[in-house]
Amino acid sequence: MQYSYYAYQHPFQKPLQTRYGLWSIRQGLIVTLQDDAGNIGQGEIAPLSWFGSETWTQAQDFCHRLPSQLTETQILAIPDRYPACQFGFGTAWSALTAPAISTESSPEICGLLPTGERALSEHSHLWEQGYRTLKWKIGVDIPEKEQSLFQQLIAVLPQQAILRLDANGGLTYDLACQWLQLCDQVSDQIAIEYLEQPLPPEQLAAMLTLSQEFRTSLALDESVATLAQLQRCYQQGWSDIFVIKPAICGYPHRLRQFCQTHNIDAVFSSVFEAEIGRQACLRLAAELSNPKRAIGFGVRHWLSLHG
Ligand code: MG
Repeated sequence: MQYSYYAYQHPFQKPLQTRYGLWSIRQGLIVTLQDDAGNIGQGEIAPLSWFGSETWTQAQDFCHRLPSQLTETQILAIPDRYPACQFGFGTAWSALTAPAISTESSPEICGLLPTGERALSEHSHLWEQGYRTLKWKIGVDIPEKEQSLFQQLIAVLPQQAILRLDANGGLTYDLACQWLQLCDQVSDQIAIEYLEQPLPPEQLAAMLTLSQEFRTSLALDESVATLAQLQRCYQQGWSDIFVIKPAICGYPHRLRQFCQTHNIDAVFSSVFEAEIGRQACLRLAAELSNPKRAIGFGVRHWLSLHG
């Protein structure tokens, strides 16, 4: 197969504030494979290094070192330390070998609220666009302020709204207890679907304890960034929700195999990939994400994709 790639940069319309800092540009790579008959398959490499994938530079070096002719064996032998490359090449390869059948499904999508106080004034835009499940980041500001904002937020959200909180691993055990207590308390006012990644990935045992002590569900995200981590957390007994970011989870066919052979409550989610990656992720989500939960792809309003 003929192989080529190019790099892209998409600026965010407004930088996204997370506890990892401000994120303002999505950089990625598009891989193109062409077989002898002239068929073309494309895939996207969208690294998220603070989640544990390779960096953009490592992905670019990897792409740069490959020869312009590739065999299937080479495409399927990318080392596990390049999960975003595995996804990009795996997507391009399956586009060539097993072209996607277009599905009519239009799943519920979760909309990402701006972090902090801006959620109070901007939630209605998302609601008007049809989002019924909304996600709000916590663990960014001082806890007292955030918890007071949270109370204000649930007071202004429509009653039918479903809210997810995402701490990105930024809480202590005591703070996580505080938040979960608060979530349990307000559950008669609003549906709190889950608290995502309260503690850092190395504290899985503590998160397993938390998941048994409160009524509010917990989801792992950073803990299960790659397929190997997903398998490990499953083996260690995690039975609550798994957030899966297919674009950094390695080869799509391996992820599919894992999800089809293990009964997990999976919520597929975006890493702000561009269109090629997004379409590939949405196809996997339609197949493998829990249909009762909104998928985490309501992020388009954050990117200016023409950039
Ligand atoms: Mg998350």
